[in-house]
Amino acid sequence: MSALPITDGHRYSGSSLELRGVSMAYGDIEVLRDVSLEVAPGTTTCIIGPSGSGKSTLLRGVNRLHEPSSGDVLLAGESVLTQKPDAVRRRIGLVFQHFNLFPDHTALENVALALRNVKRMSKAAATRTAMERLTEVGLAERADHRPRDLSGGQQQRVAIARALAMDPEVMLFDEATSALDPELVKGVLTLMAGLARRGMTMLVVTHEMGFARKVADQVVFMDEGRVVEHGAPGDLFDRPRSPRLQRFLSEVL
Ligand code: ADP
Ligand code: MG
Repeated sequence: MSALPITDGHRYSGSSLELRGVSMAYGDIEVLRDVSLEVAPGTTTCIIGPSGSGKSTLLRGVNRLHEPSSGDVLLAGESVLTQKPDAVRRRIGLVFQHFNLFPDHTALENVALALRNVKRMSKAAATRTAMERLTEVGLAERADHRPRDLSGGQQQRVAIARALAMDPEVMLFDEATSALDPELVKGVLTLMAGLARRGMTMLVVTHEMGFARKVADQVVFMDEGRVVEHGAPGDLFDRPRSPRLQRFLSEVL
């Protein structure tokens, strides 16, 4: 595996993110119920919970991919619900389980294209910035490779570089390592931990309890569309109060 990515000097300046009483539904079926949570600038919150508990829906609400039926989402103290979805997505990076890179373009082009399309950069400037971002995620020497010639972990790091290239104020991760072979998970988690350490604001849906315990400032446990428990990782993992969290942890740990 390549050396630890990202030079330690770089600092991000993340913004605060807040959900206030957010409910969301698909048709008549409510899947998120009155969810409130605060992510302070430069901190990392991990969301854990069983499949179907509404974790992805919550992230979709933050990024305006699906509209809340009530409540509000605030980025740097301002409602995102009154802003154009595109404008919000420029400020909030989202990394999924499946990386959705363009298969016919190199790693460098995948990052540069996003910069040209979204930031309207010139080709030269986009290429330069894309290279910086790939260097940041430890993939400078893979810049000319197409996705199929990269491992899943490297592809996911390109996707993260692409998101970082937008200079996001918040990064959302939805099970970013769930589709990876086990031996590739660590490199991506190390990269994510580096972003957290350098002041990015992160909201991370994950099944990696070790990551949540080590990296999160706050852990949120969701079940059936509600926040059941939240707090510092030590409290949640070592002293779960609700029977539901106790049962969940006994199943996953
Ligand atoms: P999680 O990410 O925690 O597994 P999701 O947010 O994906 O949970 O899903 C929450 C609930 O919403 C589940 O019951 C799921 O079946 C339902 N759901 C998710 N996406 C849709 C959709 N596009 N249409 C209808 N129901 C959906
Ligand atoms: Mg999900």
